[in-house]
Amino acid sequence: MNQEICYWCGKIATSMEHVPPKCLFPEEKDIKDLFEKSFRDNLIRVPSCEVHNMQKSNLDEYLMANLSGKVGNNLVGYIHTATKVSRSRLRNSKIININKEDILKVKNKELPVLWITVDTKKLIYSFESIARALYYHENKKIYQGKCFVVSKLFNHPADSNGSEYNSKCSELLSLDQKHWKSELKGNNPDVFTYQFSEIDGFKCQTLALNFYGGTKVFVILNGMTDDEFNKNKPLFTPITDSIFSNLIN
Ligand SMILES: [Zn+2]
Repeated sequence: MNQEICYWCGKIATSMEHVPPKCLFPEEKDIKDLFEKSFRDNLIRVPSCEVHNMQKSNLDEYLMANLSGKVGNNLVGYIHTATKVSRSRLRNSKIININKEDILKVKNKELPVLWITVDTKKLIYSFESIARALYYHENKKIYQGKCFVVSKLFNHPADSNGSEYNSKCSELLSLDQKHWKSELKGNNPDVFTYQFSEIDGFKCQTLALNFYGGTKVFVILNGMTDDEFNKNKPLFTPITDSIFSNLIN
C-alpha cells in the first residue's frame, strides 16, 4: 500500500485535512432556512502529518472567526458568523478578541459584523498552509519555496502590524488577477474560490484566495524550480513582478 506523505514536509501522513478547513463551510442545519443547497460539496482534502494538521490548536476556528464576519462579504458569510462562529465563541470566548460588534441589515435580517484584533502571525500561518496544501492538491508534489501573504485583512486600524503597503499590494494584485488566464476554482464559490496565476518572469506564481465573495488574500509563491519554469511557458506579468521585487528589497 502506498504511504501518503504530508503536503508540507513530506513526512508520513497521519490524517487527511480539509483545505481550507471544513469549519469555514456552513453546516446544513445553519443555512437550510435560507438556501436549498449544500455549501460542502466536494471539499478538497490533502494528507498531513501531526505537525501540519490545519485543525490544530484552534487555528482553524481563529481563521473562521476572522474571515466570516468581514464587511463586504456575502450573506453566507454573515449567516456563518451568526451561527457557527457564535457557537464557537460561546464554547471558547478566548478564541477571538472582539473590539466592536455591529449589526448589519441584509434582506431584512439583522446580521452581526465583528471587528477583531488581528493576530497577523496566526493568520499568515493559516494562509500559508492553505497555499501549500492547494499547491500539493494541484501539482501532486510538495512546494519547496517561500510564501508571502498579502491581504487587506492585516490593515485593521487596531493592528500595529498592519501596513498601508499591504493594502496597496493587495489592490495591485486584484487588478493583476483580472488578466490571469488560468481557471478560477472552488466547488462552493459562495464560501471559497482559488486561482493560481501563470508563473511570471521572476519564477513566481501568485495564488488568489477569496472567502465569502468579499475577503481576498493573495499568497505569492517564489520558489519555482527551473524545470517548472520552463515547462509552464512563463507569461510576463509586470504588476506581480514589481510587487515581488518590492517585497524582496
Ligand atoms: Zn508535515
